[in-house]
Amino acid sequence: MSDDRFRALPSVEVLVQQTLALGRSEGVPRALVVEAARAVLDDERKAGAPAGLADGRAERAAARARALAAPVQRRVINATGVVLHTNLGRAPLSEAAQAALAAAAGGYVSLEYDIAEGRRSHRAVGVEAWLCRLTGAEAALAVNNGAAALLLVISALAQGRKVVVSRGELVEIGGSFRLPEILKKAGATLVEVGTTNRTRLDDYRRATTADTALILRVHPSNFRVSGFSERPTRAELAALAKETGIPFVEDVGSGAFVDTAEMGLEHEPTVLESLTEGADLVTFSGDKLLGGPQAGLVVGRREWIAALKRDPLARALRIDKLTVAALEATLAAYVDPERAKSELPTLALLAAEKHALEGQAHRLRDALSGLSGLAVTVVPVQSEVGGGALPGVPRLRSNDD
Ligand SMILES: *Cc1c(COP(=O)(O)O)cnc(C)c1O
Repeated sequence: MSDDRFRALPSVEVLVQQTLALGRSEGVPRALVVEAARAVLDDERKAGAPAGLADGRAERAAARARALAAPVQRRVINATGVVLHTNLGRAPLSEAAQAALAAAAGGYVSLEYDIAEGRRSHRAVGVEAWLCRLTGAEAALAVNNGAAALLLVISALAQGRKVVVSRGELVEIGGSFRLPEILKKAGATLVEVGTTNRTRLDDYRRATTADTALILRVHPSNFRVSGFSERPTRAELAALAKETGIPFVEDVGSGAFVDTAEMGLEHEPTVLESLTEGADLVTFSGDKLLGGPQAGLVVGRREWIAALKRDPLARALRIDKLTVAALEATLAAYVDPERAKSELPTLALLAAEKHALEGQAHRLRDALSGLSGLAVTVVPVQSEVGGGALPGVPRLRSNDD
């Protein structure tokens, strides 16, 4: 019985012919029509070739072929209320960054060439110059993402040695990025100090030995410890680092260059305050609160940045010309913080007033209510920043302000 059913299935070639004859897969390469026909027949065979599937089989193959030919990554509307949504590509780029990307994409660029001097140069010197200009850091480096930045710092400065971290900061950022595992992968030994809720300067002091390579502070960006909790200030850690000659590194995560408190949000540590309060190196992401492309940025002391650049991992983690173009254009906006707030979509969205969002919601409702079967109403909600920044902090302080 079931054998007969399988015999009733057409061959792949016959289904391909039927599919092409429909004319609904125009422009789709034949190889994809073949793949789609094979997949449709496989599905039917797996389902035990139930009767009645012959109808519409070619249509299904055509639809599948069209889907195979379309890009998997497509434009979407972010209606989640989360501004920095990792699943949706985090920060949307500014117009200047988009233009810079497009200009770099189709041609040749001076990626590692100094046009004025007429000789070879280094990658991303423009990005590094902007980072130093904006933060006052001695030196800077850009790599692929925040996780890569931390991996490189530990690999270059602490391989085979010890890194002191508070138990309250042994974070998982998501997507299996766990601090203890990163340390292990980079070849360093983790020395945990303090407790989940309380770590004191003395805990750090007692843990530092001749074999300590780094004091690492990690911003608990995606969760909050409140209540009976304490950790030393940056200035205290910086003083201990100076006294012991051990570099003090801070991973601030989201890379805020403007104070989020000015936008009606809770304060998120800025790169500048981490540096001025004494961190020797600060690492952060390019596509969170900075509002740029995916990247991992490191700023700080010249000698440590030089050590990062010498590490073989730096070559494996380096950014490409597209990221350089988008980063330079994004950073340039911060020369005037007010300009950054209006030009960079991430900041503009976070700073948007409730009435502006309401107007947008009403326009969207009007556009959608043209679609039959949809009942659309606008309701006030509390949205989130996302991207591991300001957890549990609604984008609007309340619906009444
Ligand atoms: C987001 C985050 C990272 C990882 O950065 P990616 O750019 O996503 O790789 C690392 N540390 C902290 C504290 C973060 O918030």
